[in-house]
Amino acid sequence: MSNRYSDLGSHLWDSSALYRNAVTEFEKAGQTMGLDPNIQERLKYPRRALIVSVPIRLDDGTVKVFEGYRVQHNITLGPGKGGIRFHERVNLSEVAGLAMLMTLKCSLVGLPLGGAKGGIRVNASDLSRQEAQALTRRYTMEINALLGPEKDIPAPDIGTDSQTMAWIMDTYSQQKGYAVHGVVTGKPIDIGGSLGRTESTGRGVIYTLEDAVEYLNKIQKGRIRIDESASAAVQGFGKVGSVAAKELFERNVKVVAVSDVKGAVINEKGLDIPKLQGHVMRTGSVMGFKEADHLDPEKVLELPVDFLIPAAIDSAINKKNVDQVKARIIAEGANGPVTSEAQKVLEERGVFIIPDILCNAGGVIVSYFEWVQGLQNFFWNEKEVNTQLREVLHRSFQHVIHSKERYRCGMKTAAMISAARHLANAMLYRGLFP
Ligand code: NAD
Repeated sequence: MSNRYSDLGSHLWDSSALYRNAVTEFEKAGQTMGLDPNIQERLKYPRRALIVSVPIRLDDGTVKVFEGYRVQHNITLGPGKGGIRFHERVNLSEVAGLAMLMTLKCSLVGLPLGGAKGGIRVNASDLSRQEAQALTRRYTMEINALLGPEKDIPAPDIGTDSQTMAWIMDTYSQQKGYAVHGVVTGKPIDIGGSLGRTESTGRGVIYTLEDAVEYLNKIQKGRIRIDESASAAVQGFGKVGSVAAKELFERNVKVVAVSDVKGAVINEKGLDIPKLQGHVMRTGSVMGFKEADHLDPEKVLELPVDFLIPAAIDSAINKKNVDQVKARIIAEGANGPVTSEAQKVLEERGVFIIPDILCNAGGVIVSYFEWVQGLQNFFWNEKEVNTQLREVLHRSFQHVIHSKERYRCGMKTAAMISAARHLANAMLYRGLFP
C-alpha cells in the first residue's frame, strides 16, 4: 500500500476490506501500466454518496428506521449502474467499494455505463413481503434525486430480486405518471425485463470458465476439461451460485459441494443440481437435501476440486484459509471474494483466478441489453441475448489476456489494466471540470 493511499485513512470510505482491496488492486494495476497519476487519484474516490434513513411501519405496528445508501463512483462513460443489496453488513464503505468495481466492470466489458451501488443495512429474510415492499418504496423515494434511465439504474444484488426491481420501477413511475422501463434492470419479463437476465451472471461465470480452460490448455501441458472428468464446489446458492452450478451440471461436471448462509452439503458423486434447486425453493436452504451429507461450510472452499466458485460474500478466501484452498481454477462469481493477500499466495502457487470484474460481468452486460431493449421498446429472444453475452465476455476475456501477457501480471491486475485504459482515455477526453 503506498503512502498516498494511507492518506485515505482519515476519510469515510475505507473502513471495509472490500473498498481497501479494490483500491489496492487498482493502484497495483495503475503502477504496472503507468497510469496517469491524476486519473488514479480521481478514481480512488467515489463521485458522490447519499446516506438515507428509511423508516417503515413493521407488521407489529412499531416503526423502525433502516440505513440506506446509494453511491455513484464514476459516471464518465454513462449513467451509474449497479445493484442494490439488502444485507445486515451493508455500510457506506462496502457500497463505495462495490460501486468502484462496477465502474471498472462496465469499462472492461465496453458498456456506455458508469459505476454505482446501493444498499440497505437489513436482514432481508427478517422482513415480511409487506415490510420489504414498504422498505423498497420508501428507499426509492429517498434516493429518487439520483435515479433515472439517463442518470442511475439499479439492479438486483444480495437479498434483492426482480420483485424488488418491480417495486422500484413502480415507485419511480408513479411520480412521473407513466411507465419508465429504463430506470431499473433485472425486472420481471411482464414489465419489460429481458429474457436471460436472471441467469446471466451465473451463465457468464461459466462462459468465462470455458475461456479460461481453453486458454490454459493452450499454454500448459495437460488438459483440463469441462465435462464428467471435472469437479467443482460452489459457495452461495443464490441467483449467481445456483445458476453457475446448474450450468456446470448441464455440462456433466460433478458439482460435489455447495453452501449457503445456513450450511453446506456434499455428495462426492456429484449433486443433482436441478433437484437441489427444487429443494431450496421448497425449504429456503440447501440444508436437509436428502441425496447429500452435511459439510462444514468453511470446507467447501478447501475441497480438492478443479473449479471453485465463490458466489456469496466478499473476502471469503483470505489469509486465514488460503493455504487450505486446493482448486485449480477460481471463478469469482461474487464481488471481491478473494482478498489481495490471498490472491498473491494463490497466484504464486499457479492457481488461475478469473477476476470478479470479468467473471461476474454477465449480469451487467444483460442489464445493459435490458436497458437498451426498454429504451427501444423492442425485445430480443433468449438465444440472441445469450449469443451477444457470450461474444462480449469472450472479447473482454481476450483483452484481459492481452494485458496479462503484455505486462506479465496476474489476471486481476490485467483486468483492471484493461478497464482503466478505456476509462482513463474517456476521462482525459472529457477533462476535469471546471
Ligand atoms: P443472493 O442473495 O441471490 O444469494 C446469495 C447466496 O449466498 C445465498 O445462497 C446465501 O444464503 C449465500 N450466503 C450468504 N452468506 C453466506 C456465507 N457466509 N457463506 C455461504 N453462503 C452465504 O445474491 P446473488 O445475487 O447471488 O449475489 C452473490 C454475489 O454475486 C454477491 O457478491 C454479488 O455482489 C455478486 N453479483 C451478483 C450479481 C447478480 O446479478 N445478482 C451480479 C454480479 C455479482
